[in-house]
Formats: sequence, structure tokens, C-alpha cells
Amino acid sequence: MHPLGPPPEEQHWVDTAAELAREFAKTAAAYDESTDVPLANLEALHTSGLDRALLPREFGGEDLSYRSYGEIVRLLAAGCPSTACIWVMHVGAAIGLVQMSAPESARFYADEYIAGRRFANALSEPSGGNLFLLPQQHAQPAAGGFRLSGAKRFTSGCEIADHFLVNVLIDDTPTFFGVPADETIKYLPIGDTMGLRANGSRLVEFRDTLLRSERRCPPSTGHRPNRIGGGIAFLSLGVADAAIAALIEHARTRTIPTTGQPLATMQWLRFDLADVHSRLEAAGMYARHMTWLADQNDLEFNPATMRAKLLANQVAVDAAQLALKAGGGSGYLSTSPIQRILRDAYAGWVMAYSVEVCRDRLSADLFEDSNA
Ligand SMILES: Cc1cc2nc3c(=O)[nH]c(=O)nc-3n(C[C@H](O)[C@H](O)[C@H](O)COP(=O)(O)OP(=O)(O)OC[C@H]3O[C@@H](n4cnc5c(N)ncnc54)[C@H](O)[C@@H]3O)c2cc1C
Repeated sequence: MHPLGPPPEEQHWVDTAAELAREFAKTAAAYDESTDVPLANLEALHTSGLDRALLPREFGGEDLSYRSYGEIVRLLAAGCPSTACIWVMHVGAAIGLVQMSAPESARFYADEYIAGRRFANALSEPSGGNLFLLPQQHAQPAAGGFRLSGAKRFTSGCEIADHFLVNVLIDDTPTFFGVPADETIKYLPIGDTMGLRANGSRLVEFRDTLLRSERRCPPSTGHRPNRIGGGIAFLSLGVADAAIAALIEHARTRTIPTTGQPLATMQWLRFDLADVHSRLEAAGMYARHMTWLADQNDLEFNPATMRAKLLANQVAVDAAQLALKAGGGSGYLSTSPIQRILRDAYAGWVMAYSVEVCRDRLSADLFEDSNA
């Protein structure tokens, strides 16, 4: 047991995820090719009890620690990153609504989540997706609440969602609502994504959609970590794990004709693998530290999510690029897992906050500190 790793009493949930991830890995390539949303995987996660275990205790869950949750996301992402991405968004939207809503709505969302209803985040806007917590679209007062006409982009798993976590401007103030899927919400294809192709991202268009007053989340009263910020770095760590596993398998079995030796004996590859793997270990350790901060509800969690994401996104791309280099022509074939892993690795970089935005925010903090 590691002090920053899953508590021993929760290890069985990590084992459950490992078992599910092994199954998900068998169909990851097929889902990537078809771009179908891996609904069966998401249902298996729900049936296993993992969804419920993440709920706060007062709503019937186990308040599963962020240390276990991070490990679980990493395992799932190594198996099927599209499944892991939709799951992180589902868990984040559902638990976010439970934690942010007034008591009656919170109970409603917890019951819906326990019953297997699906949740998605409709936050990023076409005009500037990285500003997903600072919406630019206004909702207008209407009978029963407010009406929204506008669009959100890249909503993972939107077409299977029963409920959305949406943010809009009310009197110029960013405000969260829980919104049920109904006939005023349309899903417009925006082209397939390059990586995480089965994550079901669409343009979600709201056409005069009612945002009901009783589903409006009151202003936040204190700091609490959230499952998206705490989970997103682990998506990339899982992709990096998959890249290194694919590299090792290929390099052990591929013989270099000129030497008659396996590719794994090449010094350039051995050095680069040791380097990228060490950086993966470091990024993983920092991500674990970030989850430990979340479990303490420490204010340092927020900047730590950015450092963890930046480190994880970078090492995932580096590991996948090295896997492609080792794979040569074989890794470049559509039948190889390596090309898929490389495409998946870039998705983490793009997802908010993008690596550039993380760097910008972290540097801004550093310069302000040094001027103080
Ligand atoms: C696979 C996937 C799943 C997603 N799932 C969801 C979801 O479920 N729900 C949801 O709401 N959104 C989701 N998103 C959207 C995502 O979170 C981002 O909002 C979106 O990918 C980035 O927005 P954008 O295209 O508007 O990029 P932009 O913000 O326009 O960025 C363009 C470029 O400018 C850079 N940039 C932007 N702002 C700054 C800055 N301030 N400083 C420095 N550089 C900057 C960026 O790094 C990037 O290189 C998903 C995205 C992906 C790829």
C-alpha cells in the first residue's frame, strides 16, 4: 500500500475496475472504428456498483476517495479511453449536481444516478471552449425559470444522456442548472474527433429550452473538489500506460533483420523508454498527490489539477510518439493499437483546460507571487 494510493478498504473497487478494464480493452479498437458510444461498458460500470460508491454517504454512496477514483480512471483509460472519458463526465455531472443543488433537487439527482440514468456536461461553448466555467450565453427569464437558446460543444456522451449539467449567464453571473434531455435539445454532428472517437461528442443545440427554477444550483458556499478536475489527468496516464505496454510488446517480438536481435535490444529505444517511463512515474506520483489534496479538501487542489493534467497530457503524447517510433511501419497501420493510442493521447492535451491554458494559469500565479 502507498500512502497516496487507494486506502486498503477500497482496494476491492480498484480490483473491480481492473477486471472491467481488461474486458473493455478487447473492444476498444472496434469502438474507435465505429465511433459508437460504448454503452455496454458504461452499463457494466453502473452494474458493478462503482457509480454509486462515488456518491456522498448521505445520498447512499461510499464517498469513495479521490485516491481510489484516480486509480480507477487510469485503469479504465488504459483499457478503453472513450469509455473512461464518458464515465468521468457522467460521474462529474451527476455528483456535481448532487453537491451543488438545493436539498430536494440533490436527492432527485442522486436517485436518478442510482437508478442508472445517464448524465453529461454541456459546458464548453463553440466560441471558446476553454472558458467552460465562464459561459457567454445568457438565459432569458420565462415562466417557471429561464429559457436558453444557444449551443454547447463537445458534450461527451450527449446522445445517451438523460440529464445535463449546463451553465449560462443569469444577470451576467455564471449559473449552473440541471436540465433534462427533451425535444428542445438537438444533437448536431460536428465531425468525428481524431482521438477518443467513441466518446460521442456532438454540438448540443438548445432551442428555447426551459431551465427550471427548482433545478437552478444556488451559489457555491465553500470549496470542494470535483470529480472531473480530479479525474482528467488520469485519463492521460491510462493512455500513457497503454502506449508503453504496446511499445514493449512490439519491441520484444520484432526482430531487426540486420542484427537478428529483438528491437528491444536497441540502445536508443532502451534509453528513451527508461526516460519516458520515469516521467510517467513522476506524473503519476504528482497526480496521486493531487488526489490526496482532494481527499483533504485542500485549496491547493485547484492548481494541482492543472499541474497534474499538464504533466500527464505531455507524457501521454511522448509515450505514444515513442511507441509509434518503435512500431515503425507496423505501428502506422490502422490494425495496430499504437496509431489509436497516439490519437487518443492528443485528446487529453486539447480537453479543457488545454495544456497551453494550464501553463498560462500556472505561470500567471508564479509571476504574481514573485511580484508580491
Ligand atoms: C475528447 C473531448 C471530450 C470533451 N468532453 C467535453 C464534455 O463532456 N463537456 C464539455 O463541456 N466539454 C467537453 N470537451 C471540450 C473541451 O473541454 C474544451 O472546451 C475544448 O476541447 C477546447 O475548446 P476550443 O476548441 O474552443 O479551444 P480554444 O479554447 O479555442 O483553444 C484554441 C487554442 O488556443 C489555446 N488557448 C485558448 N485559450 C488560451 C489561453 N487563455 N492561453 C493560452 N492558450 C490558449 C488552446 O490551448 C488551443 O491551443 C471535450 C473535448 C474533447 C477533445
